Amino acid sequence: MYPVTDTLQRPLRDLRISVTDRCNMRCTYCMPREAFGKNFVFLQRAELLGFEEITRLARLFVGLGVRKLRLSGGEPLLRHGVERLIEQLARLEDDRGRPVEVALTTNGTLLAAKAHSLKDAGLTRLTVSLDALSAEVFRKMSDSGVAVGRVLDGIAAAQAVGLAPVKVNTVVKRGVNEGEILPLVRHFRLSGVILRFIEFMDVGTTNGWRLDDVVTAQEILERIDRAHPLRPVDPNYVGEVAKRWAFVDGGGEIGVIASVTQAFCHECTRLRLSTDGRLYTCLFANEGYDLRSPLRGGEGDQHLRERVVALWSRRGDRYSQLRHDATALPVKKIEMSYIGG
Ligand code: SAM
Ligand code: SF4
Ligand code: SF4
Repeated sequence: MYPVTDTLQRPLRDLRISVTDRCNMRCTYCMPREAFGKNFVFLQRAELLGFEEITRLARLFVGLGVRKLRLSGGEPLLRHGVERLIEQLARLEDDRGRPVEVALTTNGTLLAAKAHSLKDAGLTRLTVSLDALSAEVFRKMSDSGVAVGRVLDGIAAAQAVGLAPVKVNTVVKRGVNEGEILPLVRHFRLSGVILRFIEFMDVGTTNGWRLDDVVTAQEILERIDRAHPLRPVDPNYVGEVAKRWAFVDGGGEIGVIASVTQAFCHECTRLRLSTDGRLYTCLFANEGYDLRSPLRGGEGDQHLRERVVALWSRRGDRYSQLRHDATALPVKKIEMSYIGG
């Protein structure tokens, strides 16, 4: 019976868990200060799922076929004691009897201090977001007073404790940081870090997205290839979102995530759990399914499981494939910082 599949025969394999909707940065493409300013009302403590609640739900999802859990946010390292949650999640076993993968995406600002405890807690994969090396461009993208060096120190600390391979995600926005592509490539080549470039996406409704601001994966690859010739590499597994490329001279590999120009909805096996316990079957969904109420209302695992199976079974989302057909799209979309990217 499991994994449960949706109307497009896609199995449920990945769960993204947002552990906080707060962040210490204001990246213009994610939490623009005009929308997430002083008066923005973040979730209150009682609204957040607790670690026991998250673990109980995660166990249920793993029972339905999920093999990978990714903690995100907001900035997940802002959630007090997140290592404790990782420890609990790392004990779960998937349908093959293997420990589930527990991954984390972070802006890296608190990583230097936490790398050790994250590794000890059982974290298996780490992605750090970094959009520029230049102090000026970094400040412009992140709209924060954080120094780039702090993120680089975090990456170094993660490598030092053996959280390898660390992946670095770079969102490219035209006119802002495309000049950072080659400096980032040069910096991380030969370092063991896998750099991945992401097309700027139209998530949420506050980031003023325009198609003209998207630097396409094709364009990014051409730029890199001219300076450091590349060759394609087979995916690690079916449905891998990033397309892999290796430096011909053996300098390591990079990835590109072409979410806008080469939609991968047909292979999308992800479900998202928001900080306050709502389920989203697509990054671009406009409505979440409230799982917190039945959970807190005392519903048993079997009934909760039935709800999830019903939700996934009727899933037909493929927003990115339909992006250019405005009539087929939701008007109000949920923000990335709320469901965790
Ligand atoms: N705060 C953490 C971080 O920045 O890594 C985790 C949450 S963040 C929402 C997760 C990922 O989403 C980051 O790598 C970020 O660059 C990416 N992201 C946010 N908004 C995006 C957008 N509009 N287009 C593409 N990627 C985006
Ligand atoms: Fe914060 Fe991450 Fe969004 Fe930047 S991308 S504002 S670091 S949640
Ligand atoms: Fe998955 Fe929705 Fe993104 Fe398509 S648009 S890949 S269905 S999250």
